[in-house]
Amino acid sequence: MKNRFSIRAIPLLLLLAAGLPAHAEWVRRVTDGIMGTRITVELWSDDREQADLAIDAVLDEMRHVDETMSTYKPTSEVSLVNAGAAAGPMHITKELFDILTTAKEYSVITDGAFDITYASVGYLYDFRKHIRPDETQIDKALPAVDYRHLLLDPKKQTVRFSQKGVRIDLGGIAKGYSVDRGIDVLKAHGITRAYVSAGGDSRIIGDRFGKPWMVGIRDPRKEAGEVITRIPLVDAAISTSGDYERYFEEDGVRYHHIIDPRTGHSASKVRSATIIGPYAMRTDGLSKTAFVLGPEEAMKIYNKLDDIDAIIVELDGTVIYSKGLERAR
Ligand code: ADP
Ligand code: MG
Repeated sequence: MKNRFSIRAIPLLLLLAAGLPAHAEWVRRVTDGIMGTRITVELWSDDREQADLAIDAVLDEMRHVDETMSTYKPTSEVSLVNAGAAAGPMHITKELFDILTTAKEYSVITDGAFDITYASVGYLYDFRKHIRPDETQIDKALPAVDYRHLLLDPKKQTVRFSQKGVRIDLGGIAKGYSVDRGIDVLKAHGITRAYVSAGGDSRIIGDRFGKPWMVGIRDPRKEAGEVITRIPLVDAAISTSGDYERYFEEDGVRYHHIIDPRTGHSASKVRSATIIGPYAMRTDGLSKTAFVLGPEEAMKIYNKLDDIDAIIVELDGTVIYSKGLERAR
């Protein structure tokens, strides 16, 4: 016992004598504009310069994800796929190939509620400009919506669309994915306690020295600061989708940015869905399901997944919780 104590004490004394660590602190940076959303990075570090470099690297990585996946950028890899994959197989990067593979898995898990080919009709909407397709346009575009139209060849690392008119959009997982990449970057910089968020998608590593991080879930019909509850989290990801995010109203109907792949219409079966799980890409992908399938069907799916918890705000404002959270309450 005595021996162990002295071995530990020596380096500590040396450190103190050298005046180290300078002082450790929480470093936080908020950046707007990447992926059209707000990025927040917060981490614990005893070296301010290293912390700033690590955050710079996270933001660089997120810009890279944006450059690869944005359908607003005609030169992004996803835009090139949309332009060419109906004509024949296209070789794509391993990164995009893996993302498309995972996206198809999410389609299977969610009974097709999550489907990146939603974009085959989704591109006809512009929520900022209050533009939506009419029924004729939807009927014409809808046959191209089906994740099974996306043909992936793992040996050749190629993608092909099985028919014309198919488009993909990764807006339903890109932010979550970028958060996971951000966390990987921080880990590579030796960071062990951090929070990274992009819009409604966040992930946490470590705790706040014996205490969990407290993440608030916004009340969908109140001001941004008001929360329905706060969830204690350690080493977890959390994503919220809301019908208040990007929407317009016309004749009393709320059109917003989650599309039902079966109908091509805006999916409005809940007000918001919050998913908790291990990775932000996964929680991001799963948060759309409740809008498309409705609270009961979606909760059945969430409850079947061992690594997932969910909080759904129904249309009448009722808040329901998945089994794991019910037990904890
Ligand atoms: P945010 O874009 O703020 O992260 P969400 O996580 O709720 O919001 O994702 C909404 C986005 O998901 C839409 O803007 C669109 O890009 C994409 N999306 C819409 N409907 C679907 C769907 N059925 N399946 C997959 N992605 C979808
Ligand atoms: Mg999201």
